[in-house]
Amino acid sequence: MFCLSTVRQATMTHMSESQKSDVSKREEATLAFWKEHQIFEKSVQKPAPLGEYVFYDGPPFATGLPHYGHILASVVKDAVPRYFTMRGYSVPRVWGWDCHGLPIENIVEKELGFKHKKDILEIGVAKFNELCRSKVFTYADEWKKVIPRIGRWADMEKPYFTMSRDFMESVWWAFKQIYDKGLVYEDYRSMHICPRCETTLSQSEVAEGYKDVKDLAVTAKFKVKNPEKLGLSGDVYVLAWTTTPWTLPGNVALAVGADIRYAAFQLSNPIESTREEGGASNEIIYGPMLICAQERVNDLVIAHKKVHTKTFSGLDLVGLEYEPLFDSYSSDANLKNKENGWKVYAADFVTTEDGTGVVHIAPAFGSDDMALGKKENLPFVQHVGMDGIIRPEVKELAGLSVKPIDDVQSTDVAVIKYLAEKGRLFSKEKYEHSYPHCWRCDTPLINYATSSWFVRIEDQKSALLKNAAPINWSPEHIKEGRWGKWLEGARDWSISRQRFWASVIPIWVCEKCKAKRVFGSAAELEEASGKKRLLLRRHFRPNSSRRVWTKRAHGFTTSTCSPHPSLEKTHSRM
Ligand SMILES: [Zn+2]
Ligand SMILES: [Zn+2]
Repeated sequence: MFCLSTVRQATMTHMSESQKSDVSKREEATLAFWKEHQIFEKSVQKPAPLGEYVFYDGPPFATGLPHYGHILASVVKDAVPRYFTMRGYSVPRVWGWDCHGLPIENIVEKELGFKHKKDILEIGVAKFNELCRSKVFTYADEWKKVIPRIGRWADMEKPYFTMSRDFMESVWWAFKQIYDKGLVYEDYRSMHICPRCETTLSQSEVAEGYKDVKDLAVTAKFKVKNPEKLGLSGDVYVLAWTTTPWTLPGNVALAVGADIRYAAFQLSNPIESTREEGGASNEIIYGPMLICAQERVNDLVIAHKKVHTKTFSGLDLVGLEYEPLFDSYSSDANLKNKENGWKVYAADFVTTEDGTGVVHIAPAFGSDDMALGKKENLPFVQHVGMDGIIRPEVKELAGLSVKPIDDVQSTDVAVIKYLAEKGRLFSKEKYEHSYPHCWRCDTPLINYATSSWFVRIEDQKSALLKNAAPINWSPEHIKEGRWGKWLEGARDWSISRQRFWASVIPIWVCEKCKAKRVFGSAAELEEASGKKRLLLRRHFRPNSSRRVWTKRAHGFTTSTCSPHPSLEKTHSRM
């Protein structure tokens, strides 16, 4: 029906008639006939004994040119409705434009030479959003040429826009439906964020950006303060391995496996042991006592001689205290739960597959870490801002970006240097692994504790699987394979982005009692705010004395708790 060369020809308007292939000319004649006789319109309006076949089309962005991926999907989106039309259905096909989100924001940021989210706040969200709006249809005309040229039927004259008021209201309506079913919640948890875009991403966005990269892994030495608990004396260190050295200033605990066996051992000092003083003595001198999982000792220590001293169960290690690697937070007298920090705890996620069988715990930078932090009331130390910059409290590393896009290892190198100077470095190595990157700006993502709004998916999984069962897939293996596996592993869906050019999440939150009110339409909001013709935008703030939008992109709030009659309904339910 088409080939890529015909698409290319379609966009090469300067090509003369004589240069076109016969195939191309024949296609153009057919398209002209369809257009002249309104064949598509007639196919939708003709009698449809079987009624309507509903086709929902996820719209493309017009900020990029159509490419092979769009064309492939377009052929399927054309063939299926044609088939059902021929079977006796009417199949309206409404074209749409995706107008919101990071793809457009990133284009504007690039044009303005912006590097950080704060650049946007400086020029103002209203101005930024207007610039985004002006870019939405950059390549719409190219799409309007290519889509009909490949023979796809769609009504591109009356498209829908995700930025239109009607559409955003329909998003609000849908949001309220799922909210009222108890399927929406806000949570503070560890998720992948893009430090450049300064926003959380959904699981599927994260999955899009995995790349094999070389990182630096480090095994750090944590000096035990109470070795007598193990019947040991002198310098004793617990070894813990991490592939994210930049998280070490956020360390507040170490985790061991209760059932794992641990060994204390000493290594020969290679310089001392080879020095034979006048041949009189070849006594080997051993370094300080080191502790790691017994199973891991031989992998960790290859070049040295070693002596085993003792073995312990993980539970024996629980309660050991150690000196923090950095004193930025341990020296803070006001730090909450400080008394529980910098100790060894048992956790069931610890394995001996790699590393040392001891896990460095930084509750602000990992979901296991955060769960253990909550369970054991550990101090919460977030030494990095959402922009990926190390905070001033960490004097030694302040101002460094944890994963700078032009030199992703540089901060890890700085951490390793610091550890070496402090005598806390056991070893370092290059580590190749698959690591997620931002699908829009290519910045390495980081695991970061932050708040986000979620839709409950896990609770709905059995219904989802049941509804997915009758779907026909081609090729068939996708059903149980890529799609089925994705569905089975689906997690609660993070729907909020801490960004600007998007639909606003229609929630008011009372700052004092946290009562919420959700709006399913602009009319409801207008009634509650007493304002007419509201702009449903992030940068809009009603000048009400009682209610303001929060600075958070995902909601707005009432500035006072009482009286707020419009929230009474919500109150009565609490
Ligand atoms: Zn990004
Ligand atoms: Zn209240």
